[in-house]
Amino acid sequence: MAMEVFMSIRTINGVTLALLQGNIVEVQADAIVNAANSGLAGGGGVDGAIHRAGGPTIMEACRKIGGCPTGSAVATTAGQLKAQHVFHAVGPIYRYESEPQRLLASAYQACLDLAEQYQHQSIAFPSLSTGAYGYPERLAAPIALRTVIEHIKKPTSLRQVTFVLFGSKTFNAYEQALQQLLPAP
Ligand code: ADP
Repeated sequence: MAMEVFMSIRTINGVTLALLQGNIVEVQADAIVNAANSGLAGGGGVDGAIHRAGGPTIMEACRKIGGCPTGSAVATTAGQLKAQHVFHAVGPIYRYESEPQRLLASAYQACLDLAEQYQHQSIAFPSLSTGAYGYPERLAAPIALRTVIEHIKKPTSLRQVTFVLFGSKTFNAYEQALQQLLPAP
């Protein structure tokens, strides 16, 4: 039986930006981004899926690091995942923060900066903060995409940035935001 794959693609400055509907632990990339909490303590959503699929070495590394401030990110082993690193990014809890936009952009930017530091060619992001942290998808999607687009317009080690979006509702929110930022030719 054929599986339907929902995907949108743009090329910016030779870098592929892709939106994919799916499960981030099934994607291969140099870095896979986790939607972590500031204690790096594990949780549900993307975090649970990454730790389950990647195995216990990821949590061991998180414990050693101890924590990560909101709007920032840290790198660990990817354990059994098909990646070199997991970047644990801490997005804002939407209702707690007075400047959620700035902190959300900063969490994405911190991952892009880590990718440059490790000279990675590919990175896969989930939709940070839009699950348990309550950030409305229609507001988060343009911030996520704009941060990546502005970054890859400049010289970068990255060749491919993929947003792996769980479910059609999230995928559609990102597709709509991408269409507004970069209309398909
Ligand atoms: P946060 O606490 O930052 O809001 P969550 O993990 O609760 O993070 O949710 C962030 C987004 O990731 C939501 O859109 C959620 O549906 C999605 N998500 C959950 N599991 C996965 C997965 N395995 N792969 C990709 N996205 C996922």
